[in-house]
Amino acid sequence: MCPDGANVRSICPRCGGASDDGLCLSCILETTEFMICPDQIEIVICPVCGSILDRGRWRQSDSDLDELIRNALFKEISVHRELEDVELEILLHQRGATRFVADIRLSGMFRGTIVHADCQVRVRVSRRTCDRCSRIAGRYFEGIVQVRRRDRPPDESDLSEAREIAQSLAAAGYKKGDRLAFIQDIKDVRGGIDIIVGSTQLGRHIAKTIAQRFGGRIQESVKLVGCRDGKDVFRTTMLVRLPRLRKGDVIYSKGTVMEVVGFEGRRTAVISLDKGERFFISEEEADAAEIIGDSSRARKSVVVSVDESVVEVLDPESYRTVLAIRPAGMNLESGAEVKVLHTDRGLFLLY
Ligand SMILES: [Zn+2]
Ligand SMILES: [Zn+2]
Repeated sequence: MCPDGANVRSICPRCGGASDDGLCLSCILETTEFMICPDQIEIVICPVCGSILDRGRWRQSDSDLDELIRNALFKEISVHRELEDVELEILLHQRGATRFVADIRLSGMFRGTIVHADCQVRVRVSRRTCDRCSRIAGRYFEGIVQVRRRDRPPDESDLSEAREIAQSLAAAGYKKGDRLAFIQDIKDVRGGIDIIVGSTQLGRHIAKTIAQRFGGRIQESVKLVGCRDGKDVFRTTMLVRLPRLRKGDVIYSKGTVMEVVGFEGRRTAVISLDKGERFFISEEEADAAEIIGDSSRARKSVVVSVDESVVEVLDPESYRTVLAIRPAGMNLESGAEVKVLHTDRGLFLLY
């Protein structure tokens, strides 16, 4: 009878030692590659904006060079998939303006045994202007957003708000990965502004947001302007035609004085300043209405006395008491604070 009788053990084919099955653990440890490293990696960075080229595509990056190299190494190094508690230590040594050497140490747990591995990777850093920066420098653009208003030039405050909308949408678009979300230029032109945009997508977004903010219509047209790298180049013009009226205008139409409170499609939302009724007026009526005041110029005042049809308030300009039509449904005890506006058609209280 054999000494080990009942439990027959197999033998490691590599070293001849005892083994449960196939190679013994120490032979496995000696023959397994726990980490595979490339000899060299290349990192391409845009010297203007710091974007990096990642698998053929430019990507925005806020990381410093050290971090970029480490991240690139982590991506390129492959680690045995059975390893647990993996730790990678990277020591970077600069060897020239654009050259580094990375010493990499791996430690981890393999079938209950702690294992180590080392490798060395050469790192090359090249600088190349990215797609976005070269297009900005080359005055490239895909679209123009023209902001105009019917009949009268847009107010400077509206235009500066439109500029801010454009800038913040460009920044947000770039953050989301639209490389061409940039504003090439914003030009003051007769009757409004022209916003020159890097991408049509950004232009459409700007036009839509401005039209939502101020009302109005967008008219888009496309023009073939030439050829670039064998492809037709189109340029899109998005004309945002702001409505003649703006939010806050106090207008007189068909016997009623009203304040413009917003826009919905081609209709203008208003509130009448005598009855406090909210309704819409048509585009034709808005075009014909008489503009008699601007609600942003309203001043605070105090009710002196009130009867069924008129209200007496202290005129904030002359400090004399003046009469205004009593607006329906407003709390008007004497002493109540109200907003009053001088218009070409007399004094009105605003809701
Ligand atoms: Zn063995
Ligand atoms: Zn760049």
